[in-house]
This record gives sequence, structure tokens and C-alpha cells, in this order.
Amino acid sequence: METRDVIAVETENLARTYRRGAQEVHALRGVNLKLEAGRFVALKGRSGSGKTTLLNCLGGLDRPDAGTVRVFGQDLSTLGDAQLTRWRRERVGFVFQSFGLLPTLSVYENVALALRLAGARNRERHARTLYCLDLVGLGKWMHHRPYELSGGQQQRVGIARALANRPELILADEPTGELDSVTAGDILELFRRIVEQEGVTLLMTSHDARVDEYVDQILHLRDGQIA
Ligand code: ADP
Ligand code: MG
Repeated sequence: METRDVIAVETENLARTYRRGAQEVHALRGVNLKLEAGRFVALKGRSGSGKTTLLNCLGGLDRPDAGTVRVFGQDLSTLGDAQLTRWRRERVGFVFQSFGLLPTLSVYENVALALRLAGARNRERHARTLYCLDLVGLGKWMHHRPYELSGGQQQRVGIARALANRPELILADEPTGELDSVTAGDILELFRRIVEQEGVTLLMTSHDARVDEYVDQILHLRDGQIA
């Protein structure tokens, strides 16, 4: 099968409602989407439009109330909680707005931990950690702590960690939200290169107009639906 025929992510009538006491917030109201493998895709929409909720449902961090999510053919609803956690650790890379690095661990250890949690053996863990840090240009910084790095460098560590387990899918939630515009551009270029070189599918939320020139496809979320 050729790459262009492979569907990375597919949802059908995905719904997610948050309940706070008597109040209901319909964050997703029937999301239908299909992403081809190997693409760099932006998910745009105003604050509160459901972007984070959708990403969390696609990556198995949250469960929808209705509808289906398939990631490379895997229907997530058929996985129990332990299986879903394992699937997520091994098959999906997450990149967060505030990086989410562990402050007491070195750059190297932050990346290696993702591999340890997925059960990678020592030798493979070491080689893969070095490879990922090299890929994001941080080989020389591996013994430093996150707080010794700039925001852009910290996000590169976050990206190296997301790549560690060779995921087919990377989900990035406002990954440039805390970076200045020049640094944000560097990160978008790095994403572009990773999609080309590593063949991953990358879905990124953003409300920055400048992402348009870097991505293959743009999806708009409005009031919990794809516009
Ligand atoms: P976005 O990422 O596009 O800003 P979110 O997915 O965070 O949107 O939020 C969608 C809607 O769901 C918003 O109205 C938000 O207030 C609500 N929401 C998000 N998370 C929760 C939660 N844990 N509990 C209750 N409401 C939530
Ligand atoms: Mg959000």
C-alpha cells in the first residue's frame, strides 16, 4: 500500500460533553475527520472551540462520550484503560504548550524516561535518546537541566521526547504558544523536517496565522465541529 492511501486518524461523530454539576458543556458535537498519514496538519479555532478536547480524545488521554476514533486502524474504544495507556505511551507522541518536562531530570533523562516507560531495553534506549536529541539539535545540551535552557530549547526536548518511541502520530497542543515569533518559526520548521524525514503524521493546534505556510492541511474547529 502506498503512503497516500493510509489513513492515520479517522473519527466518526465524535462527541464529548463536560459536566459540572447541573451544567453541561458540549465541547465536541459530532466531529468527523480523516487525516492521511505522513501529513503535517494544523487544527485551528478560537479558544474554547474544543481543540484540546479533540486532541486528548485522539491520543487516548480522554474518552469521548459518543462516536469513534481510529488511529492507524485501531479503534480506541475497544481498548481497556491499561491497554489504552500502553497504546498511548508506545504509539503517540505528545507535545505541550508548557513543555511538560521534569525539572529534576536532565535533558537526556527526560527523553530516556519515555523509552523506559514503554519498556525499551538499555542499549536501544541510549541509542534512540541520542538520535532524538541530535535530530532536534540538542546533543550538546543533554546533561543540562530544563531550567538552564531557553523556551525554544525546552520545546525541542519536548519534541525529542515525543519522538522517542517512534510514534506514527504526534499531537502537539499549542506548541508555539509560549515562544516568541522567531523561535516559533524555528519549531515549525523543525516539525516540517520531522514529518519529511521520520514519516510521522503531525497534528498541531494553533491560532497563529503563520502556521499556514508550514502545514499541508488546515482544519477549522468551530463550536465543537469541523467547519
Ligand atoms: P480549546 O483547546 O479550543 O481552547 P477546549 O477543548 O479546551 O478548547 O475547551 C472546549 C470547551 O470545553 C470550553 O468551553 C471549555 O471551557 C470546556 N472544557 C474544557 N475542559 C473542561 C473540563 N475539564 N471541565 C469542564 N469544561 C471543560
Ligand atoms: Mg486548548
